[in-house]
Amino acid sequence: MKYFIGNWKMFGSPKSINILKKINLFYTRDKNRKKYRIIFTPPYTLLQNYSNYFKNKKISIGSQNCYQKDKFSSNTGAISSYMIKSVGAKYTLVGHSDNRIEGDTDLMLKKKVSYAIKNNLRVVFCIGENKTEKKNKKTFQVLKKQLTNVLEKKFYNNIIVAYEPVWSIGTGEIPSSQNLKETTIYIKNILKNLFRSKTPPVIYGGSVDGLSVQSFKEVKEIDGFLVGGASKSSKKFIDIIKNYYR
Ligand code: PEP
Repeated sequence: MKYFIGNWKMFGSPKSINILKKINLFYTRDKNRKKYRIIFTPPYTLLQNYSNYFKNKKISIGSQNCYQKDKFSSNTGAISSYMIKSVGAKYTLVGHSDNRIEGDTDLMLKKKVSYAIKNNLRVVFCIGENKTEKKNKKTFQVLKKQLTNVLEKKFYNNIIVAYEPVWSIGTGEIPSSQNLKETTIYIKNILKNLFRSKTPPVIYGGSVDGLSVQSFKEVKEIDGFLVGGASKSSKKFIDIIKNYYR
């Protein structure tokens, strides 16, 4: 099973649901639809509305983050997994580099993953090295630490790992297919040791569009894509799926 996940970041109003309706229509008519799932993470403000609309449809809705405490607490502006689940969302991203840059530590991320799974959300756990780490050949070291500091065996069934090199997010710069293959195999080996079983899905994110997906599809180890910019247009998002299966 492959995953095509759209992350809207700080984008979207109630009307933007039309973008997802077009993608849903494409999905229902696509002959390849049994091979993949579509998930979208709109901002918190749209979770309830979109989750209700897509309840019995093919697109699943998730949040972009969640707070590191359970249920309710006196933290202004915070939203817990319990609250996200209560409005019908099924997934959450955790550890996106946007949030790591703003101060999310491994300890905070571990709590976020734990509470999300406790509240029956499936977690898309994001990891990735930045430009300096890549330049200093620290990629594997960084990825290993990000995975082993947070993930535990008991999370296995509810995790998708998204490898997103920070230097590739929103820049148009992408890893070569050989490089991506090596890194994905490395991540899968770490996960195999961590979970002592088959690995959960590992997807790729960073400047994925209709063009770049052509080179990524050579990497059979990749189980799907996390798409930022190109997920805000139904045409661009559909082109990614079409070109992947072409
Ligand atoms: C992202 O924000 O997770 C992302 C991968 O963005 P983009 O596709 O725009 O590089």
